Order: sequence, then C-alpha cells, then structure tokens
Amino acid sequence: MKEIICITCPKGCHLKVDEESFSVTGNSCPRGAVYGANELRSPVRVVTSTVVVEPVGASIARPQNPDCLPRTSDACPYEGSGKDLPRRLPVKTDRPIPKGKMFAVMAEINRVRATPPIKVGDVLIPHVAGTDGNVVATKSLE
Ligand code: SF4
Repeated sequence: MKEIICITCPKGCHLKVDEESFSVTGNSCPRGAVYGANELRSPVRVVTSTVVVEPVGASIARPQNPDCLPRTSDACPYEGSGKDLPRRLPVKTDRPIPKGKMFAVMAEINRVRATPPIKVGDVLIPHVAGTDGNVVATKSLE
C-alpha cells in the first residue's frame, strides 16, 4: 500500500493506493481516486516555467534586493556584470505531461525564444518533447 497526498485540490487528502489493484482509500471525492490510481500507473504534471524574450535587448532591471537573486549554489551570471536580466515570459504546458518527460520539456523551454507580440494562450512549442501537450504563453506581451 502506497501513501500519497492528493494534490488535485487544496484539501490535500491522504490517500492509500493498492499497488496491485490501484484501489484508493482516504479520498473525499472521486477525483482523488482517479489521481491516486494515475499517480501509481503513469504520473503526470503541468509544467510551468518562463522563456527568454527576444529581441535580446528587451530586458528588465536587475533586482536590487539580493533576496530576488536565484536561490541556487550557482552565482548569478548577471550579478556585478552591469547587465540587466533578460526579459522572460511565463509559460506552461496546456495539459499534464508524463513526469518522465519533464527534463526533456524543460530543455525545449530553455531553447525557445519568445518574440512579441504574444497573446495569452499562444502556442510557443507544439507537441513539446513528443507529447500531446503544447507549451503556451500565460501572459500577453506587446
Ligand atoms: S480527494 Fe478530492 S477532496 Fe481530497 S484532495 Fe483530492 S480532489 Fe480534493
């Protein structure tokens, strides 16, 4: 029996899923049963990220607050360089994609460039990483 938390809604029910029959207990609604079974059979996720906006000259000012800098062990390539950060456009997959494809999806998102004008819902990458999902803009850009 596998224990997982349902992320379909904010209630976050604690589910128990039988690894052979995929039967689910602990769900407060039918969506939890579907989520629990799918999570063991073939987990999927919506991927959210950002893409660089071109032309390259389009930029936003560097954050003044050090807390705004990337929270990784890598130094920010823009810190102290005098360069502004590239402008970025928020994007997401228009449907959940297999978890196993997430790195391939991110690799394609990191390669693509967005050129304004762009409207919410515009497809930037069709059939990303060979899935049936598309990467779409979640913000309009003039
Ligand atoms: S089982 Fe239903 S109520 Fe519980 S977290 Fe999942 S969607 Fe929400």
